[in-house]
Amino acid sequence: MSKNCSPSTRICAMCTHWNGAAGGNQVKPKAGMRHVWEYEPEEQQICYQTHFNKKAWNSCNKWTAKYS
Ligand code: SF4
Repeated sequence: MSKNCSPSTRICAMCTHWNGAAGGNQVKPKAGMRHVWEYEPEEQQICYQTHFNKKAWNSCNKWTAKYS
């Protein structure tokens, strides 16, 4: 079940380090809504900052905005 969030939400799905340049496979802009992004909370990707697998809804203090 996908969820919506703002690009300033401090979760891995919105972070520049989550799966590097590719980002999340299921992260995409919400159709018809500006500054709203969709993600799948259970998607897992490697974090290139911590080198751990992280779920989309995880977070840490190295979070850096990827989208706007
Ligand atoms: S663990 Fe931290 S640095 Fe890595 S993707 Fe998530 S918020 Fe970004």
